[in-house]
Amino acid sequence: MFRESSIIRWRNYNDRYKLIGYKCDQCGKTYFEKKGLCTCGSLTFDEIEFSGKGKIVTYTKVHSGAEAFQEQAPFCVAIIDLDEGARITAQLTDCDYEDLKIGMEVEAVLRKFYKSGEKGVIHYGTKFTPKF
Ligand SMILES: [Zn+2]
Repeated sequence: MFRESSIIRWRNYNDRYKLIGYKCDQCGKTYFEKKGLCTCGSLTFDEIEFSGKGKIVTYTKVHSGAEAFQEQAPFCVAIIDLDEGARITAQLTDCDYEDLKIGMEVEAVLRKFYKSGEKGVIHYGTKFTPKF
């Protein structure tokens, strides 16, 4: 469920934790995933950096996640409409499922994703936290 590439885009080192997306250069529609064709028919996009602010469209509690995330289960996952218009699926953090509401404002934060390898290398990435 959580492919690293679907959560954050790995650019160069300085940019690795930014939320990068794509904006149609014709109609301005934004996408988190790279598209070959916009709904308006345009084929060209500009790369943009999202503010990391958005609203919860819907959410759920995951009790049994992918192996790498199992030590964090249960955790909450939400579909979020970013302020710039793109829709993203992301893990929520620093919150309880019972406190979540559709339409709640959230913002991106840098958090531990998972450990890997014998040395337990910690990987970080973007999660979202509600603004109470
Ligand atoms: Zn377009």
